[in-house]
Amino acid sequence: MNKNILITGGAGFIGSNFIPYFLEKYPEYNVINLDKLTYAGNLENLKELENNPRYKFIKGDICNRELVEYIFNEFDIGGVIHFAAESHVDNSIKNPDVFVKTNVNGTFTLIDVAYKYWMQGPFKYKEKYKNSRFHHISTDEVYGTLSDDPNELFTEETPYRPNSPYSASKASSDMIVRSYHHTYGMNTVITNCSNNYGPKQHDEKLIPTIIRNAINLNPIPIYGDGKNIRDWLYVLDHCKGIDLAYHKGKSGETYNIGGRNERTNIYIANKICEILDELYPIKQNSKFSTLNSQLKSYKDLITFVSDRPGHDRRYAIDASKIENELGWRADENFESGIVKTVKWYLEKYHKI
Ligand code: NAD
Repeated sequence: MNKNILITGGAGFIGSNFIPYFLEKYPEYNVINLDKLTYAGNLENLKELENNPRYKFIKGDICNRELVEYIFNEFDIGGVIHFAAESHVDNSIKNPDVFVKTNVNGTFTLIDVAYKYWMQGPFKYKEKYKNSRFHHISTDEVYGTLSDDPNELFTEETPYRPNSPYSASKASSDMIVRSYHHTYGMNTVITNCSNNYGPKQHDEKLIPTIIRNAINLNPIPIYGDGKNIRDWLYVLDHCKGIDLAYHKGKSGETYNIGGRNERTNIYIANKICEILDELYPIKQNSKFSTLNSQLKSYKDLITFVSDRPGHDRRYAIDASKIENELGWRADENFESGIVKTVKWYLEKYHKI
C-alpha cells in the first residue's frame, strides 16, 4: 500500500491534533498537509513537526485543481484524509458563499482528482492504488436537530436535515463522496462526529471563548436559555476513531463518532468556571481589582445573550456502529477531558 497520505486542513483544530498522533503511531507513513491557512489555520499548532522528515506542509486551496493534481503527481498520494472546511456555524450565517466554495467545490475537486489519479491511470496504477482510500471528515449537524427526548439519537440511518448553511454545505459534500463510491466504486469512508473540544481549538468556538473571557474577567456569553445540548467528544478520542475508520472501516460506509457526553451549554460554562475557581482562583487573577471586587466566582461572569438564528436544540450521537464493528471507545468523559482542556489553555495563557 502506498503510504503517502494527503491530509487537508491539517493546520486547523482537529487536523493539528491528528497529524502528530498519526505520524507517531505509524512510522511508515509520510504526511503531506495541504492547508490554505485561513483565519482558522495556525502553523504554531504543528511546531513540533517542523523538523520531521516524514511531514511536509503545502500552503494552498483545496479548490485549486491544478495544485491538487500537482500534489498527487509530485508526492504519489496513496490516501486522503480530508479535514479542510469552513467550520464555524456563526460565520456561515453571515457569509455562506465561502462555505459552499470550500466545503462543496473543494471536496468535489479533491475527490475527483483522487478518482482520476487512482482509478483512471494505466492498469498498473490501478493495482498500486487498489487500497487507496478517501476519508471524508464530517459532522453530526447534517442530521438536523433532535427533541429533548433522551432516547432520540442520530444513527447512520437518520435522514439528512441540515439547518444552517454550514451543515447544508457539509451535507452536500457527504453526498458527493457517497456518489463517488456508488458511481465509480471508489474506496471511501465518511465519519460524522459530534462537537469536539480539547487543545488547539480556535478562539471563536464555545469552550475557548468561555475560558478566555473568564480569564480576562469579561462577560461569558451564553446563547438563549443555555439549554441547547451538544454531545461532546474529546479531540484525541475523535483522532482514534478516524484512525480506526481509515484503516478498518468498510468502503462506502459511514460511521458516527460521538462521546456519549450530552451536556447543556450552561452546564459547560458552570463546569469550566468551577475548574478555573480551583486552578486559578479569581482573587489571584491578574485582572482582579477594586473595580471588579464584587466577583466571587468566574460563574458571576456568565451572561445570557440573544439566541443564534435557527439554533439547533439538541445533537446526540449513537456511536454503536463504530463501537461494535471497529472496537472504538472514547477514553475521556466530559468531566475528565474538560480538566485537561482548561489546563492546556491556562498554560497557553501563562496562568499556571
Ligand atoms: P478548523 O476550522 O479548526 O480548521 C479548518 C482548517 O481548514 C484550517 O486550518 C483552514 O485553514 C483549512 N481550510 C479552510 N478552507 C480551506 C481551503 N479552501 N483549502 C485548504 N484548507 C482550508 O476546523 P476543525 O474544527 O479542525 O474541523 C475539521 C473538520 O472536522 C471539518 O471538516 C469540520 O466540518 C469537521 N467537524 C468538526 C467538528 C468540531 O467540533 N470542530 C465537529 C464535527 C465535524
